[in-house]
Amino acid sequence: MSQIHVLVINCGSSSVKFSIIDSNSGQAVLTGIAERLLSAKASFKLSYQQQSEQLSLKAPYDHQAAITELVQQLTRLALLDTLSAVGHRVVHGGEHFSAPSLITKEVKQTIADLAHLAPLHNPANLTGINAAEKALGHLPQVAVFDTAFHQSMPEKAYLYGLPYELYQEHDIRRYGFHGSSHSFVAGQAANFIGKPLRQCSFISAHLGNGCSITAIKAGQSIDSSMGFTPLEGVMMGSRSGDLDPGIIFHLIEHLGYSPEQVQTLLNKDSGLLGLSGLSNDCRELEQAALTQGNKRAKLALEIFCYRIAKYIAALSASLTSLDGVIFTGGIGENSSYVREQVINQLSLLNFHLDQDKNRETRFGKSDDISTPSSRYALVIPTNEEGVIASQSIQVLQEVL
Ligand code: ADP
Repeated sequence: MSQIHVLVINCGSSSVKFSIIDSNSGQAVLTGIAERLLSAKASFKLSYQQQSEQLSLKAPYDHQAAITELVQQLTRLALLDTLSAVGHRVVHGGEHFSAPSLITKEVKQTIADLAHLAPLHNPANLTGINAAEKALGHLPQVAVFDTAFHQSMPEKAYLYGLPYELYQEHDIRRYGFHGSSHSFVAGQAANFIGKPLRQCSFISAHLGNGCSITAIKAGQSIDSSMGFTPLEGVMMGSRSGDLDPGIIFHLIEHLGYSPEQVQTLLNKDSGLLGLSGLSNDCRELEQAALTQGNKRAKLALEIFCYRIAKYIAALSASLTSLDGVIFTGGIGENSSYVREQVINQLSLLNFHLDQDKNRETRFGKSDDISTPSSRYALVIPTNEEGVIASQSIQVLQEVL
């Protein structure tokens, strides 16, 4: 099969992550990131053929400058002409997008109209799309939405116990995120256990800086821990996850917080970081807890794991059978400590850990880390960029 390369772009408010994916293998040919954009400290890193290079960006250090630099580098490396499409990660597709979409003027307008649902993400994603169109206008551009996979959730899972008009008139409902990752690992897990995906039921735990848990039946999302925004659900690196909304009123009315300060508190200063007072990074906390006896680091990890286990148990109520859980994301793929705490908390659901396999499964390895009598506990490395590339090609085959 001939090589089909897709440039995958994940544009944040101050960064552009990019990779060239061989859509046949799903593997990255080139990866890189432009960070600290819109500041003079902007940097541009690129890895190709086991070599990493750090380059400086030219003023005005913005997303367009990053994409222009990327195009120059791809020309230098003779990769530009190998590209067939550009696939963009777009965080929020609302109820409009339950599948990836070829980017048109109308699609861009809808992404802009959905900015009220993801004010930090959708405008940044659009900036990336506009910059890529300007620099790579000859290539088809495809949007792949984080929320699309969860559009299969039933009403009882996606509605809040709020007045129905808030849903009808203001789109306030649960959406779910990390869709590319959850759908990918479910497919891989079905292959791993040798059962058709349509007969499988899994609960996947995507545990990275952001964390979400999803119940997947016959390859479809039926409930997920993240809701209206990626703040709901389990505790995360610096996000609180679920909390009593009464705390927000208390912070504002009695402790003098402004709404912006509450936003920052819940999104950036909470979770592992807020509880430990040390770091949002799981690896650093494990180091502090296990080798230096840091009590707050240990407590933060304990709460993190307990809340994940609680969500897995809660989401099992949405299924009529359960083949197993799937761990993915930087923490799920690498932290044997977190996986052990979570699985040990779930013995009631018949999950039992094989300690040796758990210790050995990391750094991109897939395996079942459960004992023979347990339900499956699978570690499956995610590949969100691979999903974006393959879905981009699929869209092109359907529409062009
Ligand atoms: P993002 O959500 O930004 O894509 P990742 O999926 O890369 O994040 O996950 C980052 C998290 O994975 C960090 O908390 C990091 O500490 C954790 N992690 C990565 N490797 C390890 C490891 N070997 N042990 C424990 N945690 C790890």
